[in-house]
Amino acid sequence: MNGDTIITALTPLQADGLACVECRVDYFRVRVPHVPVGRSVTGSQVFACVGCCPADARRVAGGVRR
Ligand SMILES: [Zn+2]
Repeated sequence: MNGDTIITALTPLQADGLACVECRVDYFRVRVPHVPVGRSVTGSQVFACVGCCPADARRVAGGVRR
C-alpha cells in the first residue's frame, strides 16, 4: 500500500489534510490520532481519524500516529 489513493469530493479542509475525510473533524481544534489514507485531487495528503476507519487506516499507514 502506498497511500496514493485519490480521494475526491472533499471539502477544502479535507483536501488540505486539515480535517478527517470521514467525520470532517478539524485537526486544528481536535487532537485525535489520524493517519494518511490517500491524496486529494490536488496531490495533498489527506487523513482520517484512527477511530473512523481503524482497519483501513492502520493497513495503509502502517500505524503512524500523532
Ligand atoms: Zn474522523
